Amino acid sequence: MYIPYGTQSIDDDDIQAVINTLKADYLTTGPKISEFEDCVAKYVGAKYAVAVSNGTAALHVACLAAGISKGDEVITTPITFVASANSVLYCGATPVFADIDPKTYNIDPKDIRKKITAKTKAIIAVHFTGQPCDMDEIKKIADEFNLIVIEDAAHALGAVYKGRRIGTISDMTTFSFHPVKHITTGEGGMIVTNNKELYQKLSIIRSHGITRNPELMSCNDGPWYYQQLELGYNYRMTDIQCALGISQMKKLDFFISRRLEIVDRYNNAFKDNENILIPYQLDGCYNSWHLYVIQVMNRDRRRVVEALIAKGIGVNVHYIPVYTQPYYRSHGYSDVVCPNAETAYSRFISLPIFPKLSKEEQDYVIEQVIKIVEGDY
Ligand SMILES: *Cc1c(COP(=O)(O)O)cnc(C)c1O
Repeated sequence: MYIPYGTQSIDDDDIQAVINTLKADYLTTGPKISEFEDCVAKYVGAKYAVAVSNGTAALHVACLAAGISKGDEVITTPITFVASANSVLYCGATPVFADIDPKTYNIDPKDIRKKITAKTKAIIAVHFTGQPCDMDEIKKIADEFNLIVIEDAAHALGAVYKGRRIGTISDMTTFSFHPVKHITTGEGGMIVTNNKELYQKLSIIRSHGITRNPELMSCNDGPWYYQQLELGYNYRMTDIQCALGISQMKKLDFFISRRLEIVDRYNNAFKDNENILIPYQLDGCYNSWHLYVIQVMNRDRRRVVEALIAKGIGVNVHYIPVYTQPYYRSHGYSDVVCPNAETAYSRFISLPIFPKLSKEEQDYVIEQVIKIVEGDY
């Protein structure tokens, strides 16, 4: 037996949707793209959505649309996947790491304030595990210093911040449809926004910087004509992937409810255990639970992880503070320290959570975790 920390749920309807698209006229840049975009935009309550090839491309395109470029600084969290910060580097700009709040594990607005300089252009907030960041405070800082806010919501499709679905709060919000995320398209990503100008930029950058929109072209030589307005990329998604995404979206609420059931069982099993700190839950917010992250107290985290893996439980650690990566250390980040992030990282373990994790598998995980944190390595 091997239980991974996360995996996709694909059913016959998903498979049929993909087959239908393979038999249809368009494999890419056909009708499924806008159908999937509309589906996600409607779900989160945003006006516009742009589907791209993956969540990292979504972040890169969002940074470019925000005008982030050489000389700019962008504040983000170290407790994230490297892509959140790498997207800033792709633009020739500099990621600056603000420490996390030790309770929520999300970027701490107080530390954002300390990291602001004359060069700061944007904030990339990451809703770690699906728990919303303190967006009111982040927005206040952004307004005060005239900064753009991008939310990396790779973990937070379906999460709610004070009555608002993640995806409507900031200038742009990005999602990922990698197989471990809430819904999957194999690889895939999306940017949502309420701003028409940003929407047009995102659409153009996704496809080589090219437009056929007569409103945006300086002249028009004929039906074949298009103009490249800036340097874009081929970050398009295929119709095959979007067909899978549309089918997956129908099950998103069910997927989230399954995740919530697992969280309730884990929380109940671990809440009184002195060697385990269960996730903190913010009032007035709704975590969509991409990950279930505990802190192991008083124990050697590495040995706990190794013992769980030996029992067939594919636990993982999210995340290694980004600035400690060798690439970052050798590119100007050798002295960076975020104490809260480092302490949390030294104790974090992500336990298995995904919709098809059975009750028996949950019981097995609970039993083994409790046994092993007792010191029974
Ligand atoms: C998964 C993830 C990404 C990258 O998404 P891909 O689709 O794998 O490119 C970016 N940020 C965070 C926080 C993620 O979890």
